[in-house]
Amino acid sequence: MKIRILGCSGGIGGGLHTTSILVDHDILIDAGTGVSSLTLDEMAGIQHLFLTHTHLDHIACLPLMVDSIFDRISRQRPLIIHALPASIDALQKHIFNWAIWPDFASLPSADQPVIRYQPLNPGQPLTLGERTLEMLPTNHIVPTVGYAITTATGALAFSGDTTTNDTFWAGLNRLQRLDLLIVETAFSNKDEELSKLSRHYCPSLLAADLKKLRHRPQILLTHNKPGEEQRIWDECQAEIQGRTLIRLVDGNTFEL
Ligand SMILES: [Zn+2]
Ligand SMILES: [Zn+2]
Repeated sequence: MKIRILGCSGGIGGGLHTTSILVDHDILIDAGTGVSSLTLDEMAGIQHLFLTHTHLDHIACLPLMVDSIFDRISRQRPLIIHALPASIDALQKHIFNWAIWPDFASLPSADQPVIRYQPLNPGQPLTLGERTLEMLPTNHIVPTVGYAITTATGALAFSGDTTTNDTFWAGLNRLQRLDLLIVETAFSNKDEELSKLSRHYCPSLLAADLKKLRHRPQILLTHNKPGEEQRIWDECQAEIQGRTLIRLVDGNTFEL
């Protein structure tokens, strides 16, 4: 399994891009502004998009991507958007509603659209080729999940957006193995109250939750607020003991 980080910032500017992760050539986890670094052919090769939630930094490039590759998407094989039912409702109501962007689930025709929604829930693992994907519930301000992606040779998990919770960590502990954990740390400790209000992690909240994890994966920190990266990194290094920490950067690649 190949993993390519298209975007891992909490914002934009100075070459930063928001959350999007390409798995092999055909699976995309979230569709933030990182998607804009893909070629048209690479975008057209994506067959499955798995969403953590519908906040803009995680879907910003989805409408533009579908429009850009409209002619390249096979009518027999539409882009499948796997998401919580509440996330699908939000996309239909607030994005693909003709007012903000066309309803591509009915274009070019309702019978053979270029996108198709596929509701997915925690507890319903989905196997695509060698890879099994499973939603893991988290604790964010809207319905949100993380994902575990396992193959015979390795396992990756991504927290999506979350603050303190038990469900994500219990889900990880149920996995047979965990090699890479991409986990958000949106804010620095000076914004701990804001972290709780907006339901994100800061280093102190993440350090406390990491004590719940029985696996020893490499921990890749993501979703830092732009300009706060160094402070968040220093605080994580001070607060999180006995773990392998890595600062995730746009363009990073991994293989499991
Ligand atoms: Zn969010
Ligand atoms: Zn976010």
